[in-house]
Amino acid sequence: MKEDKKPIVGRFAPTPSGRMHLGNVFAALVAWLSVRSQKGSLVLRMEDLDTQRTSEEYAALLRQDLLWLGLDWDTETLPQSKRSDAYDGYFQRLQDLGLLYPCYCTRSQLHTVNAPHLSDGTSVYAGTCRNLTSPPPGRQPAWRVTVPDREFCLQDLAQGEFRQNLSADCGDFVVRRADGVYVYQLAVTVDDGEAGVTEVVRGMDLLGSAPRQMYLQELFGFDHPAYGHVPMLLAADGRRLSKRDKDLDLGQLRQRMRPEQLIGQLAAAAGLLDQYEPISARELATVFSWDRLQKEAIYMDTNNSCFFP
Ligand SMILES: [Zn+2]
Repeated sequence: MKEDKKPIVGRFAPTPSGRMHLGNVFAALVAWLSVRSQKGSLVLRMEDLDTQRTSEEYAALLRQDLLWLGLDWDTETLPQSKRSDAYDGYFQRLQDLGLLYPCYCTRSQLHTVNAPHLSDGTSVYAGTCRNLTSPPPGRQPAWRVTVPDREFCLQDLAQGEFRQNLSADCGDFVVRRADGVYVYQLAVTVDDGEAGVTEVVRGMDLLGSAPRQMYLQELFGFDHPAYGHVPMLLAADGRRLSKRDKDLDLGQLRQRMRPEQLIGQLAAAAGLLDQYEPISARELATVFSWDRLQKEAIYMDTNNSCFFP
């Protein structure tokens, strides 16, 4: 078979529920570096399925923050909150394939089961509702997709080989919630697939969900993208840096640092630079390589004069 050289298409897919924190900045930086060092293009998409927590104000700040960092993109596609018609079509395809069934399990039913837990906190679904003959009256069900007893394998750009058997390690998973909202797994697969994304770079916490997306990609007829799951950023005491660290969100950091300082600090901590120096994203792209990126969690010492002058 002829290897056709597809252009590289990467993506930023932030959730506009607050200012970017260091972990978001780092994942966005690596996504941008990988794509731009290969002369590829980038798509921006707001992941705002949770309309209670997200807002257009935060989306606007996210765009400004990315541009302040020097991380540009080529197109912005519709936010997920405006895509339910598209998701309906793919949901119907799963229905037509006979792969969906309604699930009436309550949250507590799902949690009392002695099931092993996935890295994202959900438990392996035991298939309780798969052969339900009399659904409980008056309740709207969630919808689950049947998974095969098959191992999915990916060669992660950052983590190396990752394997997961969907049946044993995950179980049939929800694609539409009881309130009608589509879940991340379905939305992200459809959005990346329709945008022609060839490379998905994001935080390590999403590695365990990649096989579910690979399964849906097969069912929907999309090619698998390459995956790169970048390590988590930890504070010096081992705590995961998150949105709770308000003094380290971009709203605060932008008042104290230049983008070159922030990028230099991240690059040095992650192994992309031998030692700290202020550097722009564009300059860093000329020396970027996945081989240099460290695989393990990255300890960020934010108690220095760059962060707190
Ligand atoms: Zn159920």
